[in-house]
Amino acid sequence: MLLNVSITVVIGLIPIFLRTIIINKNLHHRNWTYAAIGLLFAMHSHAGNDHRYTISVDASLSEMTVTAHFSTAVTDISARSEDAPQFLVAAYDCDSDEKLETRGRRLVLPDAGINCLNYRVDLREAANIGRHEQILDPANIAVSPTLWMWRPRLAAADEIHVQFRLPDNVQVSVPWQPLDNINNGYRLVASPQSGTGIAIFGAFTSIVVDVAGTALRIAVLNSHNVIDTPAVTEWVRETAGNIALTYGRFPNSSARIVVIPVGQSMWGGDAAVPFGRVVRDGGETIELFINEGRPVSEYYGTWTATHEFSHLLLPYLQRSQRWISEGFAQYYQNLLLARAGQYTESYAWQELFDGFERGRQSAPGASPNAATAEGERGARMKIYWSGAALALIADVELRRRSDGRESLDTVLDRMQQCCLPSARTWSGTDLFRQFDSLLVEPLFMDLYRQYADATGFPDVRPLLEQLGVRAEGGEVRLSDDAELATIRRSLMARKPRTSSRAADRR
Ligand SMILES: [Zn+2]
Repeated sequence: MLLNVSITVVIGLIPIFLRTIIINKNLHHRNWTYAAIGLLFAMHSHAGNDHRYTISVDASLSEMTVTAHFSTAVTDISARSEDAPQFLVAAYDCDSDEKLETRGRRLVLPDAGINCLNYRVDLREAANIGRHEQILDPANIAVSPTLWMWRPRLAAADEIHVQFRLPDNVQVSVPWQPLDNINNGYRLVASPQSGTGIAIFGAFTSIVVDVAGTALRIAVLNSHNVIDTPAVTEWVRETAGNIALTYGRFPNSSARIVVIPVGQSMWGGDAAVPFGRVVRDGGETIELFINEGRPVSEYYGTWTATHEFSHLLLPYLQRSQRWISEGFAQYYQNLLLARAGQYTESYAWQELFDGFERGRQSAPGASPNAATAEGERGARMKIYWSGAALALIADVELRRRSDGRESLDTVLDRMQQCCLPSARTWSGTDLFRQFDSLLVEPLFMDLYRQYADATGFPDVRPLLEQLGVRAEGGEVRLSDDAELATIRRSLMARKPRTSSRAADRR
């Protein structure tokens, strides 16, 4: 966004320079002015491609029509899903009116490329292959852009501006960043493409709530069952507010939350919030799957949403090292639920203690890196808890050596300021090197070298003893006369919430 503003200012200055050339006859000055203009255009071209899409959907949600104007001729256009071609009704080069064929999930384009693309998609059919369609009210559909977004590959500086043109009764929710002051205008930039985002069209609940200074976009899909939408959005707002109990802000200023009712499910049973996930596909979306048959009061007792929000504290880590991202989320969900007052201090420590025990017993012959690279078979608890152990070790050490002035919260605060949200996929060493660069005295790469490739599980038992977390028969007792009891209490201490405004419906 900052980049866009500076380009607009730069382009705005060009007429002034041109006037200078006309008025100023001094050759020396004129050369300088030409050089300045050259520099300005060079800066503009560095901004990358800026493609323009206009997307229309009809009132019955059956068809989508797309017109794309590319900022330069493009020679490669594809859809991300292998299933996309079966929903493409027809595609044309709008300059020549030539019909374009598909080969796999690519469009066959003339060698010189095309500057304008026009295509139609059978939207309802595309939505029908989605997993949620059976239980959704047909007045709203959920369909991934991977099935209908035909576009060039985006380099880091490239952007697509998308303008939706919709009938009055049709709303849209997409994973992309909303453009200020442009109704239904969005900006699509490169992203890690972890998972596939969903787009929603039709009649559903779409609101913006203020959480710790961030305007969070919340979409709640309508199912065949009645949903207490005001209560559900209030639960989302309150739970999202937990994340600000780290450093006072939400980690992403343009995050989107999609609540998907799934009822009782085969995989979730009768759990109130059976599943959640973060999708980084064109923007960061947190998808929360709820069982709308359970009372919303039960949602507050679950950790799923706090776990997912905690993932936003880190950038997307490569899947083969997700023991780091899962571990940090497991660690923080317990700290944050204690800081919010939903867990007592001893309950939060019991959860961490139990998790560390399960992690220690999981795939004991493998290192965290090896276990994660090989997949979950028998190693799930190692993947979910070794990073949590490392997070605890780091957090306590940061607090100990700085007398409480530094902590994992302050490192993540600086991390957010320098690097989040991030469009790329990070490795564990990328992340920990970055953390160390944010500290006067490095710590994280040492811990990584010690634990990431070491067989077994980071042994936190001596540290827990120092913190005064003692277990008898598996039951945690907290002891305040322990050496590091003050640090233990500071990790979980209740924090007042940063004020959040009530839901602002639109
Ligand atoms: Zn997770």
